[in-house]
Amino acid sequence: MAGEAVETEKPYRVLILGAGFGGLYTAVYLSRFLGKHRPDVWVTVVDRRNYFLFTPMLHSVATGALEPRYVAHSIRKIFRKTRVHAHVGKIEGIDLENRQVRTTHRALPYDDLVIALGSETNFFGNLDLERRAFTLKNLEDAARVNNHIIRQFERAYWEENPEIKRGLLTFVVVGAGPTGVELAGEIYEYAHRELLRDFGRRITKDEIRVVLVEATGRILPSLPEKLSQEAIRRLESIGIEVMLGTRLESWDGTMVRLTSGSGFLASTLVWSAGVKTNPLVRELPLDKDPSGRIIVRSTLEARTMDHVWILGDNAHAIDPFEQKPYPPTAQTAVRQARVVAHNIAARLIKKPEITFAHRHVGGFVSIGDNYALLSAKQFTLTGILGWFLWNLVYINKLPIIRYRLFSTFGLFLKVFFERSTTEVDFCPEEEKQPIREAGRMAG
Ligand SMILES: Cc1cc2nc3c(=O)[nH]c(=O)nc-3n(C[C@H](O)[C@H](O)[C@H](O)COP(=O)(O)OP(=O)(O)OC[C@H]3O[C@@H](n4cnc5c(N)ncnc54)[C@H](O)[C@@H]3O)c2cc1C
Repeated sequence: MAGEAVETEKPYRVLILGAGFGGLYTAVYLSRFLGKHRPDVWVTVVDRRNYFLFTPMLHSVATGALEPRYVAHSIRKIFRKTRVHAHVGKIEGIDLENRQVRTTHRALPYDDLVIALGSETNFFGNLDLERRAFTLKNLEDAARVNNHIIRQFERAYWEENPEIKRGLLTFVVVGAGPTGVELAGEIYEYAHRELLRDFGRRITKDEIRVVLVEATGRILPSLPEKLSQEAIRRLESIGIEVMLGTRLESWDGTMVRLTSGSGFLASTLVWSAGVKTNPLVRELPLDKDPSGRIIVRSTLEARTMDHVWILGDNAHAIDPFEQKPYPPTAQTAVRQARVVAHNIAARLIKKPEITFAHRHVGGFVSIGDNYALLSAKQFTLTGILGWFLWNLVYINKLPIIRYRLFSTFGLFLKVFFERSTTEVDFCPEEEKQPIREAGRMAG
């Protein structure tokens, strides 16, 4: 973008909340679009973590295929050669009236505010479940799941009671969106291909069970029906039990009860059946949809406030082709980031703004090792080729080449080397509530 540099004494502050897919890419694009123009524009990204988390590969960390650092990339390194300043601290409040954001360190004023704070797990008010169930939203969750799976194998190894042993080796994933399906597939591969080799003296293949529970009648609602059916076939063919049209009624750490009336022992349950908007966003006095996402104009500026831009999981943006809101995915967030960055820069250098109108052409989902389903327009691909493309597409999304290489290396490690079965638990005692609960109940 070209434009006249404007000399001003006071800096123009663009404050970006969140260094996830939406926030990080907005900062990278904005820095690129501004180039050498408007040196008075300061861009700050605030996040409670000092790294960008590559969520599409989080399940590989949860199942020993990748080390945490392969999916967590330092934002200070990413911004090193840009005009972006990384502010690592927890955001405690957003004051739209006085145009400032409070973090653990200080109050940050802004001229333009970008909100990309993502979402959190929705337990739909079930506090019992919230206390006990495992989730997969961040690196800590992935490490917990990984350690817990290994611990169940360690317990099962010495268990003499076959019923309890089977419960220890039953892994339930609730919610068959992409995260649930991918995680169930990875747990299955991990248990059968890796852990079974370590524990094979006293544990057999038939004692391990992976169950995927879904309340609706189909899995992967974002993919075409044909691919959803194909995914079920794949899951079942490798040995995962898919239970459709039934909800989780309760889980006390050992016993799973479903609304269909069935009940079985399982000492691991991962909840991936819903997300809700970040609480800071839910509190904002802006127009929102029933799920708390902020309604935006087609330029991605909040419908009821200028200079406040929303994207990613926090935005309710209408897909003009489908006439429904865009799904909360990394793909959506990255594409929106480009538009937000373009529009902020365009306004600063007096260029026309653009609107966000992306036609959703398909999706990907990986199911276990070396297999993925890919759908794009009329084109569908399954198997190892799909799996390879799935990985390339995601790795290609990483913001800097060094991390792309890093992740490609991680991928090769996953294909050619064994997964890790080491239980490394640095988690302080008080944070172990779900593990302790599950472990105690499971005996
Ligand atoms: C396990 C998993 C797998 C996924 N796989 C895929 C996939 O394969 N494909 C796909 O398209 N999508 C996938 N997604 C969804 C995708 O990750 C999200 O849609 C995407 O990250 C949304 O981007 P965002 O910028 O809105 O939020 P995020 O990327 O979540 O970023 C939000 C940022 O805000 C920060 N933050 C939040 N609250 C505060 C606070 N109070 N103070 C400071 N910082 C704060 C967080 O630390 C985070 O860095 C997956 C999600 C998960 C959990």
